[in-house]
Amino acid sequence: MSKRVHAWIGLGSNLDNPLEQLARAVAGLATLPDTTLLHQSSFYRSRPMGPQDQPDFINGVVLLETALDPHLLLDHLQRLEQAHGRVRLRHWGERTLDLDLLLYGDQTIATERLTVPHPGLAERDFVLRPMLEIDAGIRLPDQRACKDLLADCNDNGLERLEPSESTGLATLPHRH
Ligand code: AMP
Repeated sequence: MSKRVHAWIGLGSNLDNPLEQLARAVAGLATLPDTTLLHQSSFYRSRPMGPQDQPDFINGVVLLETALDPHLLLDHLQRLEQAHGRVRLRHWGERTLDLDLLLYGDQTIATERLTVPHPGLAERDFVLRPMLEIDAGIRLPDQRACKDLLADCNDNGLERLEPSESTGLATLPHRH
């Protein structure tokens, strides 16, 4: 069995009941092989980054501990996206479910399929804020503090959703 590492996954959706999409995705992540779901963030509402004539996004982050190698983990993320009948209409446009591998331990990865840390991470408040909610001291492999990166982000109108708005989240199963 290979070494278990902390893997951070970013979730986003703005189609077909986004809160339900994210809740189902978290449940799917909790049942990945050789993987434990350690923490999940609140969900956040943000304005779309790309074309503005699309619904707001709901975003969140989960922290996994996994023995899956990063490319196998990406396979599973893409399988979950497909299982949600992922629709993607245009670049930076609306989608049913987007799963990103944000960080994989302290590794830097640059292959044809995979760039880690995720290229958008450092500029996206809707990723950094939920990460900091889980670990206020989190840093990138180059030692930049996510807290400092968040302070430099543009205001994206990010709004944390109350748990009552994030239906059913408190009851999701955790795998041990
Ligand atoms: P997107 O739909 O914008 O998330 O892009 C999906 C594509 O990005 C896939 O072809 C992945 O192979 C590639 N990709 C590169 N790095 C990552 C990453 N860290 N997490 C998720 N997808 C990635």
